Amino acid sequence: MGETRHNWTKEDILAIYNKPLMELLYEAATVHRQHHDPNTVQVSTLLSIKTGGCPEDCGYCPQAARYHTAIEGNDLMSVQQVKAQALRAKSSGSSRVCMGAAWRNVKDGPEFDQVLEMVRTINKLDMEVCCTLGMLTENQARRLAEAGLYAYNHNLDSSEDYYKEVISTRGFEDRLKTIDNVRKTNVTVCSGGIIGMGEKVEDRAGMLVALSTLNPQPESVPINALVAVKGTPLEDQEPVSIWEMVRMVATTRIVMPETQVRLSAGRTQMTREGQAMCFFAGANSIFAGDKLLTTPNPDVNEDMEMFNELGLNPQKPFLKHVHPQTVEAEDSQYQALGENPRWSRPEHTIERNEVAKQKAKTTK
Ligand code: SF4
Repeated sequence: MGETRHNWTKEDILAIYNKPLMELLYEAATVHRQHHDPNTVQVSTLLSIKTGGCPEDCGYCPQAARYHTAIEGNDLMSVQQVKAQALRAKSSGSSRVCMGAAWRNVKDGPEFDQVLEMVRTINKLDMEVCCTLGMLTENQARRLAEAGLYAYNHNLDSSEDYYKEVISTRGFEDRLKTIDNVRKTNVTVCSGGIIGMGEKVEDRAGMLVALSTLNPQPESVPINALVAVKGTPLEDQEPVSIWEMVRMVATTRIVMPETQVRLSAGRTQMTREGQAMCFFAGANSIFAGDKLLTTPNPDVNEDMEMFNELGLNPQKPFLKHVHPQTVEAEDSQYQALGENPRWSRPEHTIERNEVAKQKAKTTK
């Protein structure tokens, strides 16, 4: 096993991505076997703890309040509701729960305190807890770490260049800043992106450069295929082909050998054969549950049937990193600071986002 490389260039990554497929698959599967058990795949459950009404303008997202989509918004779930769902997920083979809230950034206050309690509760169920709550200060990252958070998800989505074509309400450097804040703690980093948003292959490579040159590299990288939702600016995008997905997974595996590569949104558009090829190419996690935040996902039973067919075993929790200790709220060293950080608002104009917003105004 060689040392992990942190100096990948776009040219290096494009050369890998564009290899003849059989060669690419062989190389990726070889790297995968050197670093992971090829018959083990982690099952994670994504819970939308606060859905819809988001002030951001991410072009792919049905939860952005400015677009007209069929999403029903919900207030923050209770700790008891989250606990019940986590127990259900655990009994069907999940070892990780990722809680997502449609927030621009975390704000200190009762809602964040409630999320911290959810983290404590799930960590005590011996499951890996991940959160995706938007931008985060260092103090907030430390409070999550103290509660027992295992991972924080904050996707880069695409290359720095193409990011500007998808989101105008925050900058790429804001994403990196939050990842950096998480890195100041023992919480692991989960960061990946979406293909099929109209980006070029160069942008996919650009995103992998941004992720693979982080030191350390993210412990987890979700690769999503866009699920084009009606009412969003990207509603008319054609689905990506399975070959693009396999190439993306294989390239991610080669440039980030230790990382958990996660097959995320878009699995309902993939056949079982296609998913098997992704596992061969180095994907070692899936998301379970009938919904991925708001978009459809295969049924848990179907996934278990697929695992049986392929001889795959669900990964146990805390296999790759230690189980964090939970510090109770009353013993906390880090109190709410009531910060009001200045995250950037580039507010450049993205034409298709503006069109979707105008359309929503006339249909709402
Ligand atoms: S992806 Fe997240 S930040 Fe962007 S609109 Fe959706 S919920 Fe908001």
